[in-house]
Amino acid sequence: MARFTIAHAHIVDGTGRPAYRGFVTVSEGRIESVSELPPAVEGERVEADGLTLTPGFIDMHSHSDLTLFADGRAVSKVSQGITLEVLGQCGISGAPLFGSMVDEVARFFDRHHLDLSYRTMGEYLSAIDRQTAVNVLALIGQGTLRRGVMGEGDGPAGDKELRQMQVAIDEAMKAGALGLSTGLIYPPGCYTSTDEVVALTRTIAPYQGLYFSHLRNEGDTLVEAVDEALEIGQRAGVGVQLSHHKAMGPHNWGKTAITLDHINQAIDSGLDVYLDQYPYVASATSLTALLPDWALVGGHEATLARFEDGELLQRIIEETDRKESRFGWDRTRIGTVSEEQERDLQGKSMAEIAQEWNIAPVHALIRILRDNHMQVSMIRFGMGEDDVERVFRYPRTLIGTDGGAVAPDGPLSQGNPHPRTYGTFARVLGEFVRQKQWTTFEQAIYRMTGLAAQRLHLSHRGRIAPGYWADLVLLDKDQVNDVATFARPHQTAVGIINVYVNGQLEWHDGRHTGALWGNALRYFAER
Ligand SMILES: [Zn+2]
Repeated sequence: MARFTIAHAHIVDGTGRPAYRGFVTVSEGRIESVSELPPAVEGERVEADGLTLTPGFIDMHSHSDLTLFADGRAVSKVSQGITLEVLGQCGISGAPLFGSMVDEVARFFDRHHLDLSYRTMGEYLSAIDRQTAVNVLALIGQGTLRRGVMGEGDGPAGDKELRQMQVAIDEAMKAGALGLSTGLIYPPGCYTSTDEVVALTRTIAPYQGLYFSHLRNEGDTLVEAVDEALEIGQRAGVGVQLSHHKAMGPHNWGKTAITLDHINQAIDSGLDVYLDQYPYVASATSLTALLPDWALVGGHEATLARFEDGELLQRIIEETDRKESRFGWDRTRIGTVSEEQERDLQGKSMAEIAQEWNIAPVHALIRILRDNHMQVSMIRFGMGEDDVERVFRYPRTLIGTDGGAVAPDGPLSQGNPHPRTYGTFARVLGEFVRQKQWTTFEQAIYRMTGLAAQRLHLSHRGRIAPGYWADLVLLDKDQVNDVATFARPHQTAVGIINVYVNGQLEWHDGRHTGALWGNALRYFAER
């Protein structure tokens, strides 16, 4: 397909302006012309009467860092119209790799009978280029970096270690990274002081890098955690992206009114802040996140050893139970377990399991973690509808799946991922826009495309205009919706007809074409 013309589509061009009917011609991967009348030079015609053409969706928060190597088709993403993923989130990235992180990442590659061929960010980006159906941008994960340089310890970075991390960040930015991410709620982010994060984040400032933050807390101290992230941006002199914004736990519902107020004040004072969100009231992460921070110091083996020490176990049980009883044990469900014989736990709530086993939920938690060597994911129903709506209506909220690319078939088809990895963008258009009418279709597309591209400083993505890359979605506006559920997550969205990445057809009528036309974008070259 050297040149092709999508004819008679309703064009929603990613700027927020109203749809109009017209012709879009693509040549050499880029949009050649956009017109209301047939173009002078028309390519092979794709008749799109009755359908809507939008720019490709930008997944502001993706965890496909490694999964793209196992299956580059990125089916769960492309099938919902995603053409660009922002990787390296929550402090966890594919590169750069130092120390023990080399072995840890190599284990993923071993499991999929692949060789880990890279160490640096530059090598990582080269390895991923044209191996995937989606374009990617990558952040440097502060957790990945700190664990590589300092191991699993909870102490502050020494001068030498700090210097080593700063040099690595500088190198990665020169190689094309987008910025730095932290997961301040997880080890080792939770052991990292604000000052240390600022010292690292300053390194990305000369490159106009962005700071992406999974906050230190999303519940009881959510407001303080937002303030910390804004302070980091202010002190380091960089733009801030607040990841998957939410308020966890019924007793914290309503707090997003305060956080949005603080964000507005920061914007008024000159800080560049955006948020992102996935359209569900449930979140997903590792089950270990229920344990106190101190119990996780030193990694999984160290935690399992603490379970064997009567006194420490008692402290873990008391602290965890106090927190989780308040949150509600019925709100936490098991996602994916590591042990085959434990599969029947998947999808059940902690309260249900405890009742079946006739023990307290906190004891059930310890048993599940122990029996699965800490490798268990959970899904938590902790958000209130009102907060989800308030965050969605906020004009600077972009959309992100917070999921890694998987597929209904092949090596990534196992387990029970959060349905957001398949459904996020389709659900926003079907549920939040068509059914609930929280915003217009054009505005929703603007946030998923043009505004997201502007936030990422991408000069030739996110719009349907001549010269822009032909990342395009042809969809049925009246049908588009998510299908994936918590019980059956491996289901692709409906209503997404064609998806093009860099001018190449990747998804057509419910099937992946097998094309791997995505590029690893180098941030410095995109502005
Ligand atoms: Zn996160």
